[in-house]
Amino acid sequence: MASVFEYSKEELAELLSGEPRYRVEQLWHGLWTEALAIDEVTTIPKVLRARLEEQFVPALSVLTDVHSDRGATRKWVFALHDGATIETVLMTYEDRVTVCVSSQAGCAMGCTFCATGQAGFSRQLSVGEVLEQVMFAVRAAAPRRLSNVVFMGMGEPLANYRVTVSALGRLHDYRGLSARHLTVSTVGVAPAIERLAREGLPLTLAVSLHAANDETRSELVPLNRRYPLARLREACEYWIATTSRRLSFEWALIEGVNDTDQALEELALYAGSLGAHVNLIPLNPTPGYLVRGSSEHRVREFRDGLEAMGINVTVRNTRGRSIDAACGQLANVTKTKRRLLPVRSA
Ligand code: SAH
Ligand code: SF4
Repeated sequence: MASVFEYSKEELAELLSGEPRYRVEQLWHGLWTEALAIDEVTTIPKVLRARLEEQFVPALSVLTDVHSDRGATRKWVFALHDGATIETVLMTYEDRVTVCVSSQAGCAMGCTFCATGQAGFSRQLSVGEVLEQVMFAVRAAAPRRLSNVVFMGMGEPLANYRVTVSALGRLHDYRGLSARHLTVSTVGVAPAIERLAREGLPLTLAVSLHAANDETRSELVPLNRRYPLARLREACEYWIATTSRRLSFEWALIEGVNDTDQALEELALYAGSLGAHVNLIPLNPTPGYLVRGSSEHRVREFRDGLEAMGINVTVRNTRGRSIDAACGQLANVTKTKRRLLPVRSA
């Protein structure tokens, strides 16, 4: 038994081949356009709805539902059918509503400053598990319309390549989300960036750079040993040439590590030569990395320094910090496992 969101329209039609084609259309419209649960698709007879509910089971069940920023940021911890857990964050702004989805349960990349990386890898998500996160957020966001999807939750989307690309395609085709409003954030899997460029989807690509010299980057992002900065640059150049889209670099500012004047110059050179946008993220605290984030003052100085060197730069606000929902804080894999251990009384 699987989630109804695992299936393409053609696959679903195949599964319901005993029913008239217009039933598939009604179900499809209800699920994807109106974001209804199967039981709410009342254009379909009750008996059939009951049968469909037995045939398809939701992929996600809510373990935790918390919010902050006066309700503007909401985080869910979901349990999957096998007990693995993932997190999804919904962020409501004046001009857009964004969901941040997980692409894997955990992450194998081991970036030192990231809570997901510290917790390790559990497993890949299926396309239905990714899409159900989005549809869950669509329902929670109503009456606002979900406008953006960012693959910046748990996991490395390009290490779950086929699922990521399939989910992106379906969000575009079935939900009508413009590719520009779909963002993939990657730690820098160079060959996968090139492959993604050839998919022909004008998405927004964000590359988590964090350091523009190999020694520091390899310490923060172990994958840099496999795809060092020169190789990453090739992939970025290929992305820009193939898609005609700019890309952005993410840079979590860490005190004394990548917020020095030298780091600023290295970043300006690397990003400037690629015409890339820079997104500065004040480092969010995580239990396994005790180095501090840069002070607010240094974040502003760093931003001004980049601007003075002609770099297009923004500072990302730290939505959801208090509920561990901010960038790099998603780590419920281990926390939940621990909570599920039998409790022994003293
Ligand atoms: N694996 C992908 C996407 C998920 S991480 C990637 O690494 O890009 C999403 C973003 O959060 C990345 O830019 C990542 O570098 C950043 N991040 C991780 N830990 C962080 C932390 N403690 N503080 C701020 N940003 C962090
Ligand atoms: Fe994985 Fe991204 Fe965290 Fe690195 S920053 S460990 S790639 S989720």
